Amino acid sequence: MELPAVLRKAREKRFALTPQEIAALLALDADADLAALFRSAYAVKCAHSGKNVSLRGLIEMGNVCAKNCLYCGIRRDNAKVERFSIAGDQVVRMAEWAYRERYGSVVIQSGEVESDEHTEFVAAIVRKIAAFSGGELSVTLSLGEQRGEVYRYWREAGARRYLLRIETSSPELYRSLHPSDHSFRRRLECLRALRELGYQVGSGVMSGLPGQSVGQLANDLLFFRDLDIDMIGMGPFVPHPDTPLGAGTPLSAELRSRQLRIGLKMIAVARLYLHDVNIAATTVLQALAPDGRERGLLAGANVLMPNITDAEYREKYRLYPDKPCIDENAGQCRGCLSLRVAGIGEAILWGQSGDSPHYLRRCGNRADIA
Ligand code: SAH
Ligand code: SF4
Repeated sequence: MELPAVLRKAREKRFALTPQEIAALLALDADADLAALFRSAYAVKCAHSGKNVSLRGLIEMGNVCAKNCLYCGIRRDNAKVERFSIAGDQVVRMAEWAYRERYGSVVIQSGEVESDEHTEFVAAIVRKIAAFSGGELSVTLSLGEQRGEVYRYWREAGARRYLLRIETSSPELYRSLHPSDHSFRRRLECLRALRELGYQVGSGVMSGLPGQSVGQLANDLLFFRDLDIDMIGMGPFVPHPDTPLGAGTPLSAELRSRQLRIGLKMIAVARLYLHDVNIAATTVLQALAPDGRERGLLAGANVLMPNITDAEYREKYRLYPDKPCIDENAGQCRGCLSLRVAGIGEAILWGQSGDSPHYLRRCGNRADIA
């Protein structure tokens, strides 16, 4: 592969890379090659959203989960986790704080719960947020797989965006990461249903999974294109000691740097291939290196999701080990992030909902329907 020519082609036009070229970029390892890759991706990011970062205040609403994903620290069978569910009014108060602090948007995330009571509980929160902000504070839900009518109900309540990672686009690899009653097909159907209901749809994968090849990661990026995904939240797998997939794999310095590297490469190649989607520099990058999220931004991401959950709950929402900032409150996170972002010469888009340029484009630039 002639790297400068491939990077030039990718910068000029989205979808220009072949699957083989995508895989070859993901396999790059020399520091100079990686620097060139990240520089190119950053240039594409700047062309689409400038030297700006959008914020989503992340509210980790509860760690009760009916699922048993083999990699996740809050899986149902992890008896070591003390379960919590934050009261609806308290969730709304956190969203009010985000609105006052000019975050522009919030993400409400939790373990997966499917029940009529939960459906109503979430809808009431979404309605209250829409009411106090006059619809200005954009709400993203990340509450796992639900029936189509539940997604519809939440959309009607005022939710605009939904995040549901496919985790991997390979059905075989998916099977190796989940118990047999977890269905790849259902996850896919959920993504399609969300799209049909007019949500701005986010998805993502984990990189650096046991047994995962660069060919599979390349297919993940093709999958995002085929599903016409608007936003991407993805990150490297971090082995959690109290899970079947993570037990016995200590998070050594060598593993940290390998996982960070593949996570950054996925961001960069996603940016070079898809161009105009929103891509988050997810918190997991910071679990691997103190400056992980800034490096994600410099590799082509344009979204940060600072945690705004009250500090008392953060410790209990541990999907992976070494989660950063668990003893900080939301105000401290705000100050720290501003400095970090300014430190790399970028500016935070305070008070803006930060719609995905891809979404606006596919909707004919009609922000009013967002
Ligand atoms: N229950 C919801 C949302 C919370 S989980 C859902 O599953 O969609 C959010 C994401 O955390 C998952 O999609 C998964 O990609 C990520 N995650 C879980 N365990 C992880 C681990 N050990 N390392 C890295 N990411 C992990
Ligand atoms: Fe539950 Fe989501 Fe964790 Fe799976 S990844 S166990 S659905 S919280």
